[in-house]
Amino acid sequence: KLSVQKQPAKGKEKNERKPVSYVSIERDAEIQEARLQLPILGEEQVIVEKITEHDIVVIVGATGSGKTTQVPQFLFEAGYGSDAIPGLIGVTEPRRVAAITTCQRVKKELNIPNVSYQIRYEGDVTEDTKIKFMTDGVLLRELQSDFLLSKYCVVVIDEAHERSVNTDILIGMLSRVVPLRRKQNRPLKLIIMSATLRVTDFTQNSTLFATPPPVVDVGARQHPVTVHHNKETREDYVREAYKKVCKLHRTLPPGDVLVFLTGVQEINRMIHLLRKTFPEKAADEGDKEAEKTEDISAKPVQLDKYDPYENKDDSPTEVIVQAAAPDQTDTKEQESSESEDEDIQPTPHDRSLPLLALPLYSALPPDQQQRVFNSQSDDYRLVVVATNVAETSLTIPGITYVVDSGKVKTKEYCPVTGMSQFRVVWVSHASAEQRAGRAGRTGPGHCYRLYSTAVMGNVMEKHTEPEISKKPIDGLVLQMKNLNIHRILNFPFPTPPSLSLIETAEKELQFLDLLKPGQTVNNTPVNKITDLGKQCVHLPVSPRFAKLLLLAVEQNVTQFALTLVAALSVGHLFTGPIPAPFKPRAGHARLLGDFMVILTAVGAWEHSGAGQPWSAAHHLRYRALIEIRQLRRQLANILAQNHSVTLEPLLKPPTPGQITSLRRILTVCLGDHIGKLEEGTGSTDLYSTEVVEENVQLHRESVLYGLHTEYVGFCSLEQESTGVKMRVVFGVEEEWLPTLLPNKCTFSDPLDQPPPAYSNVSGEVMCHRTSTFGVRSWVLPAVNL
Ligand code: ADP
Ligand code: MG
Repeated sequence: KLSVQKQPAKGKEKNERKPVSYVSIERDAEIQEARLQLPILGEEQVIVEKITEHDIVVIVGATGSGKTTQVPQFLFEAGYGSDAIPGLIGVTEPRRVAAITTCQRVKKELNIPNVSYQIRYEGDVTEDTKIKFMTDGVLLRELQSDFLLSKYCVVVIDEAHERSVNTDILIGMLSRVVPLRRKQNRPLKLIIMSATLRVTDFTQNSTLFATPPPVVDVGARQHPVTVHHNKETREDYVREAYKKVCKLHRTLPPGDVLVFLTGVQEINRMIHLLRKTFPEKAADEGDKEAEKTEDISAKPVQLDKYDPYENKDDSPTEVIVQAAAPDQTDTKEQESSESEDEDIQPTPHDRSLPLLALPLYSALPPDQQQRVFNSQSDDYRLVVVATNVAETSLTIPGITYVVDSGKVKTKEYCPVTGMSQFRVVWVSHASAEQRAGRAGRTGPGHCYRLYSTAVMGNVMEKHTEPEISKKPIDGLVLQMKNLNIHRILNFPFPTPPSLSLIETAEKELQFLDLLKPGQTVNNTPVNKITDLGKQCVHLPVSPRFAKLLLLAVEQNVTQFALTLVAALSVGHLFTGPIPAPFKPRAGHARLLGDFMVILTAVGAWEHSGAGQPWSAAHHLRYRALIEIRQLRRQLANILAQNHSVTLEPLLKPPTPGQITSLRRILTVCLGDHIGKLEEGTGSTDLYSTEVVEENVQLHRESVLYGLHTEYVGFCSLEQESTGVKMRVVFGVEEEWLPTLLPNKCTFSDPLDQPPPAYSNVSGEVMCHRTSTFGVRSWVLPAVNL
């Protein structure tokens, strides 16, 4: 289908000596018509000219103007990726969803197969790929092995306004790569695309770009949106949103609705309520499917083919799991209070349109995400209930009404303690405007804000803070050190991270032996990457887990560590309470704690045939399990480059010896996350740590909760309303602290108490030394060293 015609260059700019070739594409008539509606189509020539004339171009335009789907096509048609300008057209997205769905869309629009995507553990890139969509993390990793990005002729950084850490760093790095490629006479073009939000961070930033890059403003074809504020701001915004949608559906003319909530639970609650109130459209095939997976009826749970817990005496062969849907209680409460409100009496509505309610959030399987794009119809009103993925990354066509809770869920990170916390907070003005704008894409629209103008005026921030000030940056610091960027503070960040974030990251990396103090510059030692650090950089997981994998290879427990690290990297595994058979009951397995639960859940699922129904019946998130397998395979492949590692097809239960090895390497990697029991009688247990001043508790979900384990190691601390909680926990042996973590101990003199003594067993003089551990100076028993 590709035909290439050579055309003479316009010869406008001395930099551009090569003739530009134009590739012509035969698009489907329907698609071509839809494209012509996009505001960006009118700017094609300007955009292509600017990119020809300048190495760096910024494109801004309202969400939905066509940047993501069209700019890669403009580039392709302008000859980028052809013989005249060889190399890949790379497009980075901060979100996986966007990388996959836009890849599919562009492939369809261009009607050629050479469009591919790559996310952390899956992709379909081949030698024939011309346009490659990827997450920003993928390109950042490619920079590690090829700083000049020699495979690419143009890189498009999309959604720059989202200010993800990876995007910020990419822009910083590429600001240095572009001049280098220019010097080599193989220019790399860089396009930064952003919604109309504070682009001055990129354009008016002289540390980043010496001369400000040209900005092409796509000019929105935005219809007027009438904004309505609630007079009062009510606490239960899900209920308010529900009321608003009911009223709107009963009284306002046809038009689809987009509702912004903050998380999966809320979205499911809302969808559930809407489907009960307006049942007409719930008979849809796909909905039944969706409801089926959400509704887990009480089923017997059995681990027949995979049961790692040897001590079976006290375990019943069949355990009934009480499957309480997590938000069932919420729903009941909602329904009972709802009758008080005349406004929203769930009267069966007669003459008006049926209603189809669909969820949209990133953890939703891709085919269900795609449904919101394919479900527009005159036969019913579509209500999409979404997280803020619908704010800018995905544009649902034909939305007339927006209902905005004004809230967003963010993970907040404290650089001093390394503690993180999920919180629902107010969005910024910029986000609220963005959300409202979603109603005016195809015609005049309305936005209903479930908060007052006072909240907007007095409480909300103007702009959302960039992610780099809110996340741990240990992985990033290690990657930068690997690229010999030693002084992180001097790096051209669009917004620099705080000094305390950098210090926390460097301290942790030093503890893990991934960095070591190097030469002193201006009286401060500059940390350099160690050989171990260099090995860790290539594994796409956090440095701590990368080290865990390398230690596991040495200790012959690779299979288990691969599963654990993959599981801890993909996010929540369980959708509800952990089924009892997954919980270790005694002995070694119990001391591996929550890590053992992960191994058992994944192992049992694989041995059951790795199906979706099994995972749903056991409260496991199917998508997470699939991702664990993919990531595990990818990690095994990377390890296999330098070690003899093969991935076994099925996970075996670990032996007691292997469990001890796992606990020992976990102790080494989490040696700065150890808790010592200070007081309590089981459920009231309080632990001291070196991370925070106050004593902390085990999270209720931990299988070690209430077991009075003297020393534990934990993955993270989370602030909850009832105190600070340790999550993902295992048991540590006291005598391991001085032997496995000597750098954290202060030892007694070898000749001090107790004095050296001859050992009949070993035939050697033994120096038993006592020690204190960590900043809390926990007194440890004497060991021979
Ligand atoms: P921008 O990047 O400027 O926000 P996009 O290129 O994402 O704009 O969207 C342009 C148009 O393409 C929108 O009307 C959107 O609805 C449509 N579109 C984007 N992705 C898909 C998809 N996967 N399926 C169908 N239509 C899509
Ligand atoms: Mg976009």
